[in-house]
Parts: sequence; C-alpha cells; structure tokens
Amino acid sequence: MAEPGSIAERVKQQADIVRVVGEYVQLKKAGQNFRGLCPFHSEKSPSFNVHPVRQMFHCFGCGKGGDVFTFVMEMERCEFPDALRIVAEKCGISIPRSRERSPEERKENQQRAALIEMHREAQTFFVKQLEGTLEGKVARAYLEDRGLDKDAIGRFGIGYAPSGGDALLRHFKSKYAERLLTESGLISRDQSGRPFDRFRRRITFPIANESGKIVAFGARALGDEQPKYLNSPETPIYSKSNVLYHLDRAKDVMRRQDFAILVEGYMDAIAVARAGVGNVVASCGTSLAEPQIKLLGRFTKRVIINFDPDTAGQAATERSVALLLEQDFEVRVLALPPVRDGKGADRKADPDLFLREKGKDEYLKVLKDAPPYVDYLIARARQMDLSTGEGKRRAVEFLLPYVQKIPNRLLRSEWATRIAQQLRLEEPVLRAALSKAAGERRSHLNIKPELVSRSAKPVERRLIWMLAEAEGFRRELAQALQDAQLYAGLETEKIFAALIAASASEEPMQATEIGASLEERDRRLLFEILFEEANEATWEEAQSCLEALRRRQVEHELAEVQRGIEAQPAGADLKGLLTRKQELMKRLAAGQ
Ligand SMILES: [Zn+2]
Repeated sequence: MAEPGSIAERVKQQADIVRVVGEYVQLKKAGQNFRGLCPFHSEKSPSFNVHPVRQMFHCFGCGKGGDVFTFVMEMERCEFPDALRIVAEKCGISIPRSRERSPEERKENQQRAALIEMHREAQTFFVKQLEGTLEGKVARAYLEDRGLDKDAIGRFGIGYAPSGGDALLRHFKSKYAERLLTESGLISRDQSGRPFDRFRRRITFPIANESGKIVAFGARALGDEQPKYLNSPETPIYSKSNVLYHLDRAKDVMRRQDFAILVEGYMDAIAVARAGVGNVVASCGTSLAEPQIKLLGRFTKRVIINFDPDTAGQAATERSVALLLEQDFEVRVLALPPVRDGKGADRKADPDLFLREKGKDEYLKVLKDAPPYVDYLIARARQMDLSTGEGKRRAVEFLLPYVQKIPNRLLRSEWATRIAQQLRLEEPVLRAALSKAAGERRSHLNIKPELVSRSAKPVERRLIWMLAEAEGFRRELAQALQDAQLYAGLETEKIFAALIAASASEEPMQATEIGASLEERDRRLLFEILFEEANEATWEEAQSCLEALRRRQVEHELAEVQRGIEAQPAGADLKGLLTRKQELMKRLAAGQ
C-alpha cells in the first residue's frame, strides 16, 4: 500500500495516527498506548487502542485494526485515494494534484456540478412554496393531517411543487441552458417539445445521495392524481438503484448499532426516523436492487425488513430476503400487526400508519421482537392451503430455496426440522427433500473467512512479540527459528514466516504492512500480541522459548514414530523406528 518513497509513505510518516484518530475518538493515555471507546462497535468500556510508536490501532472487542489509512477508510467509508487525501489534509501535508483530467471528464464534472446546484436551488424553491403561498397552505394542512408538523417538515426538507406547470421553469429559465433543464429531470417536455415542470401540485421530498447532496426528488400527489408517487427519472446524477433514501443521515447510527431498518417509501422512513430510530432507509420503490444492497452492506450486514403488508409488499419482502441472503446479510422481517380503524375494522399497517395509530413505544417493541426471516417465511407458507398433499408440496417448494441459502449447515438442518413440524409434514418424500436441501448449500457465496480469534500458546505469543519488539536480538532470533524450522506446523506459522521475512530487511519493522499481508485472523492475533503490555525480553528468555519449541518438535516426531510402530511394519522398518524412538526419548530426557 505505502511503497517506500511514495506519496502514501510520505503522508504516513508525517501523519500522527493519535491526532487523526483523536478527531473521531476520545483517546486517553494508557501506558505507552492510547485507549478509547471503539467507533466500530458499541461498547461501554474502552477496548480500542492506538499505538503511537507503531502508528497502528487495534480493537480487542471487534478485532478491527490497521494503520491511519485503514482507520480513515473505515470511518469515512471511502477508498484508499480518498483516505490518503483526507489524512494529508488533516495533517497539513500538501500532495500533488491527480493527473489532469481529459476534456470530456472535465465537461462531465461541470455538468454534474451544475445539476447538483440546480437541485439545491429547486429544493429552496419548493420549501418557499410550501411556506409562503396559498397553495402551500393547503399542502401544509395535508401534511399536518398526516402527523407531519413544522419540525418534521424542516428536518426532512419537505416542500411543495405548485400546480401552475411552469413555476420552477420560470424560476430557472434565465439561468440554465434548455438542454440542462431537461437533463435535470426536473423539467419535462410535452409532445411538441414544449418544456414544463415535471412535478405539479405535489408534496416534494428531497432525495440525497450518500454524502448528503440532493440528487433527485420524490413527490406525492396532493389530490387523487395518478400516479400517487412520482419520482425523478434517471439522470447523470441519479440512478434509483444506487440510492437509498435517508442513508446520508442513517449511516452513522447504522454503523454504530450494526443494523438497518429497510422500509419501502419516504413517508415510512420519515415516520420511523421521527420515532427515534435513526438507522432507517427506504428503497423508494417496491423492489430492492443489488447495488442498493451493496451500498447498505458497506455500513452493516444486518437488516430488518419492514415493508408494506399488502401483496406487493409481501412479494417485495420475499425478493429482498433472497437478494440480501445472496450478499450474506443477516435478515429479520417485521410484519406489523393490523391496526383497528375508527369503524372497528382491522387495517393492514405500513410503518407510517402503525406509528400514527399505535405510537413509538409499540413500534419499538415489535421491532425488537422481529423474527428471523425463516420464521416469517414459515408463517407465509402456513397461509397456503396445507390440507392437501399438493398444497404441502407447494409450501415446501416455496421454502426450499431459502433454506439452502442459510450459510450454516447445523442451522439449515434445524430449520428443516422446524419446517417439517410447523407444516405437519408426515410424507417421507417431502421430509427427504427438506433434509437433502439442509445438507447442501446452494449459493455462489464464498464462505466467510474464519474470524474466531486464535489463542496461540504463550511461548508462541512471546516469541512473536520478541520478533517484533526485541531490537537487540530479533534478527538472531529470526535466524534461529528459520534454521531449525521451529515454527513449521504451528498454528501461528504464517505470522512467524512474515515476521522472519521482514527481519531480513534493515528497515524498522512495519507492523501494519505485515498485518496487511496476513489473513484476517492472523492479522488480529498479531495486533493483539503487539498491544499486550509486555516486559522487556532478554536473549536468555528467547533461548528458553526456542527450547520449548524444539521440545515440541521432538514430541511431535515421537508421536509420529509411535504411530508408525503401532502400524506393525516389516522387520527392518520396525527396527529403524524403534531406534529413532530411543533417540528421541533420550533427547527429551536430556532437555529436562
Ligand atoms: Zn471495536
């Protein structure tokens, strides 16, 4: 990542990780390190550590760790080049501008900037219309009726597009070229090519991209006009499958709480956010698209789906569950219970209606109890006609693909049993189909690397620490380990190999670089060891650690020889093995 002499290397050398991290996390000195509450997981006592000498951080709670760039990339959810720029800016280091852009690129950028500016101006215009016009007054009354007070209107930037048909157009006309007006999606053209306002007599909701820039609008009809909801079309700055409504405000809470609530429309998202649940986003359409899921996955991999309970909403829920599982999400589904209306009849409730009728506490309660998606799907299957064999077969076929997407085999078989019980499946054929499905996982997903942290033996931990820290003799130690291949076969073998390879260089050891070259669980273990409070080491102590490894090597070979003997080989081989056993036993005895 940071090659010697590169800009990245220069920035890394000049930047102070304690200062950069300190802008995000309150750090306190603890021994030679600094400590604070981890920004990547929720915790009450600090397990997040920053090492000023090694310029690295590590959290003992969630295992995240790395150098100053890794930290900024995680915090800002950005790629390396942006992290480099941010760190450089924070530390007042100037970096050369990236290569001059091509004329086309420059033109595109200018166009995008103009479109974003237009949206900003349109937003101001719509807000003014709501606040200061007669028509706006009617719209405000409608919003109030929906429980949206002045505070909510301000907070979510709700506005009003007047009915005239060319109000926004006239507002813009002197300022922007006609081509740009139509490209913005805010202005449409009729068949004769005459421009007019796309949104008329509608409540407007600004839709922002991830960084909070308004890139589109959603608009709800004030009367009975169709469609009820009309959104911006696809434009150079807006693609609906790449945007999640409210993500710009939800992302921090989402990351902190490590889950998201997914609703269908902006009214739902606003209602849920107003109930104090900030980590809510809306798909703004009935079906969730794959890019939206990937976007979400950058902040959390745990989702509660809370779509409308109607048929379209149910279908969207099922489709979204499948898509989210493909991307390794942990999914729960909240199907809101019906609310009783004024006439005493039950009404299916979307989040907005539910919150208005039942209130925040009740919503939080059902949200907390939202079941795993499999429970939701079983409940759905049970609504099918299960009185016939044919009906049961259909129910099982509905469930099978989901069962096969569960990553864990034990869990799959548990669910299969549960499904069989819940659907009262006595037929051996269906039971067999279920248990077959439980045995295999059909998904092109990679199995996640094992993230369970390893617990290396104390001797190994100590030697790893010495290889990194014992400036006086770490090279001799590396040589000794290398010569006798003492680390071969150890669980920590790869960490040893990386440290030994690094010790060949004259340069001071770069723990973060070594960490980056290791698999995640090895990286965690290495950082853990480097952050342990440790006493200075002596060469004598190193010797005794090496001795322990030698002994383990002998014991290992002895066990192998013993297995060979027990296999009862032919005479000459047996004799060789017995001799070797004697030798090894002697070496072990001598070591004591
Ligand atoms: Zn953490």
